[in-house]
Amino acid sequence: MEGACRKAHPNETGGMLFGEHVAEDTFRVAEATVAGAGSFARFVRGLRNSLSRLEQFFHRTRHDYQRFNYLGEWHSHPHFVLRPSTEDDATMSDTVNDPQTNARFAVSLIIKLSDDALAVAGFVYYPGSDRENVEVVFDSG
Ligand SMILES: [Zn+2]
Repeated sequence: MEGACRKAHPNETGGMLFGEHVAEDTFRVAEATVAGAGSFARFVRGLRNSLSRLEQFFHRTRHDYQRFNYLGEWHSHPHFVLRPSTEDDATMSDTVNDPQTNARFAVSLIIKLSDDALAVAGFVYYPGSDRENVEVVFDSG
């Protein structure tokens, strides 16, 4: 994600998050895809390649969907605070309320690279309700 931010600068970038369920309410980001760069103030992930990336992840994790699954989305805010925009909220709500995705929740990580520090804010969206904050912990191991 850090490398993608550097490459896309000054534009936004982002992609999908695939997760590993490690404890009751704890998920590890197992993989973050990079779906190209957006504009100065906007990033919308295209659908191209998304499904095949997810299928490759399922294959690598031996279709253990309880443990390894789609976790959500990430994108950068190089010029804005680490809070979802109205459009960000709408996109995530659409994702989680889409009957086709059958998602029980979806996480959104918003990241900002300043100097050499990476700041991350996390939010979780549930079908039919508002977003909540999630705690983001960096695993140094
Ligand atoms: Zn945003």
